[in-house]
Amino acid sequence: MSRPARIEFRNVTRCFDALVAVRDVTLSVHDGEVVSLIGPSGCGKSTLLNMGSGLNAVSSGEVLVDGERVTGPNPHVAFMLQKDLLLPWRTIRENVELGLQIRKLPIQGKSQALLKRFRLEGFENAYPHQLSGGMRQRAALARTLAVDPTVLLLDEPFSALDAQTKMVLQQDLAMTLAEEKKTALFITHDLVEAVALSDRILVMSARPGTIIEQIVVDLPERSNPLARRRAPRVGEYLARLMELLHVEEQTI
Ligand code: ADP
Ligand code: MG
Repeated sequence: MSRPARIEFRNVTRCFDALVAVRDVTLSVHDGEVVSLIGPSGCGKSTLLNMGSGLNAVSSGEVLVDGERVTGPNPHVAFMLQKDLLLPWRTIRENVELGLQIRKLPIQGKSQALLKRFRLEGFENAYPHQLSGGMRQRAALARTLAVDPTVLLLDEPFSALDAQTKMVLQQDLAMTLAEEKKTALFITHDLVEAVALSDRILVMSARPGTIIEQIVVDLPERSNPLARRRAPRVGEYLARLMELLHVEEQTI
């Protein structure tokens, strides 16, 4: 691929004392690409993302963002987790503006535009506990995007939501990523979500986690996961992913 790598892992290994969590992972996500990472629980997915965000150091190998080695938190990399991590004492607007304030960036119309995009108008002055789980994750998405990151790292951001709310949030995320041509590395354990949202899926082995397969998702309309879910070939991708993850063998 000719597009430049926005984030790149080169032969990355991470140990916690004697435990090898991640072994020799090499991957890159190119400009404007959305790549999903799937693998069994405990295989090191979150550990990988933590290294991408600079929150966790590599044991060996290197992580590069826009060609620069990651040595600590990087203002161009945004991180979003399953827990929304909204500050309970700040209103929704103040939460969305948090990253801008910390970085002393102009707020102007930016937060209002994001609040509108994520359908939070009318709730700007509400506190997180007054919102539903789906609305809180929309606010967290708005906060993540407010600082205009080069790379988004998303660690199972929708896994605590009910199935229908999740589909709506997937649509919000996919449309925004496509419109703004963002680059994202997305962890999920939801195989349909991986197929619906990404250009490529990287499959990891059980711990020590390493990448065992890459699947290019050749389906139309990455910006429209609801349409993608209806594509006849989704089932073929799911079958291949279940095979790679040995899902059926675990039922015997
Ligand atoms: P996943 O996100 O794929 O479920 P994790 O990256 O959270 O997996 O964890 C991978 C392995 O590394 C697990 O065995 C976990 O117990 C271990 N691990 C993760 N973080 C730490 C830590 N800070 N200290 C010790 N072990 C850890
Ligand atoms: Mg995890």
